[in-house]
Amino acid sequence: MSRTTDILRDTFGREHTYLRISLTEKCNLRCTYCMPEEGVVLSPRSQLMTASEVVEIAKVFVENGVDKIRLTGGEPLLRKDFAEILHPLSQLPTTLTLTTNAILVDRYIEDLKKAGVQSLNVSLDTLKPEKFFTITKRDQFHKAYGNARSLLQEGFGVKLNVVLIKGFNDDEIIDFIQLTEHQNLHVRFIEFMPFDGNRWDKSKLVTQQEILTKTENYFGVDQLQILQNKANFIARNYQINGFIGRFGIISTVSNPFCDGCNRIRLTANGSIKNCLFSMSETNLLEPFRNDEPIEPIIKAVLLKKKAVRAGMDDARSFESPTNHSKNRSMITIGG
Ligand code: SAM
Ligand code: SF4
Repeated sequence: MSRTTDILRDTFGREHTYLRISLTEKCNLRCTYCMPEEGVVLSPRSQLMTASEVVEIAKVFVENGVDKIRLTGGEPLLRKDFAEILHPLSQLPTTLTLTTNAILVDRYIEDLKKAGVQSLNVSLDTLKPEKFFTITKRDQFHKAYGNARSLLQEGFGVKLNVVLIKGFNDDEIIDFIQLTEHQNLHVRFIEFMPFDGNRWDKSKLVTQQEILTKTENYFGVDQLQILQNKANFIARNYQINGFIGRFGIISTVSNPFCDGCNRIRLTANGSIKNCLFSMSETNLLEPFRNDEPIEPIIKAVLLKKKAVRAGMDDARSFESPTNHSKNRSMITIGG
């Protein structure tokens, strides 16, 4: 039986049981598709959620039916008080996970185990050190790749997030899939999405169809299995016959999956967004600090949620740069 109260339900009947919390606007990498070249204006420290505020606000969501929490950022492991957030959250009746670039993950293996984290999403867009430097502006490939491998060896489930950019890393699609032959790894190709300041243009997009065509041409159509999708899926999943791992495609641009959306986002400065592409947001932190109830605010925000990509349901509106300049940069939303 669902414990969800009506505050998490939108007008389309979608239950928002999956809370993504951004812990910081800062990052130790500079991925060009995420962090604008000119940087971002950071919130004053006083406006950022403290560790206990993160936990207390998360509790309100859990009391109303959230059953999964993802910690993200910026780079969530940059927070010096990461463990102070992780452990209390792990006491809540939810699945707890995180998305990380893995650079600092070796410091937290024991904390993650103790908190019962079973799987993590790790972002890695290339298997080539020089390309890693080009996309992230930091010479940290071996650290990131080594830590992703350690996570697997330590028994964590790992989803490897790969943002594909045409002419940059689409020549590595097969290499990434081959990683799944002997390792229980889930590679997820993500279509490059437009956000403020990331110089998105359609010509850089590698679509779901292009990925599948490349895969079928290399492995053979009959070797590609389509896996059953769960409810609230965001990736369409596949496996090559005989391979241990699998791969998926997150086709937010060419084929969005909004029907089953169950996500709500809390930014590091305590605002909620009802969609990744929403041009508006509502601050929860200030009312929370003033001891005002935040449930009615959450409810009102979800009731305004649009059916598809914050109302950009056709390609024309989604591809208009002016729409995305009204949104935040990805680094400050929390992907
Ligand atoms: N720093 C952590 C990391 O990189 O995993 C967590 C935050 S990052 C914003 C979360 C995810 O968003 C990453 O997997 C990243 O690849 C993805 N992302 C960022 N900008 C994107 C874009 N423009 N299009 C598609 N995915 C994007
Ligand atoms: Fe940092 Fe992650 Fe954005 Fe890269 S994708 S700049 S690692 S927050």
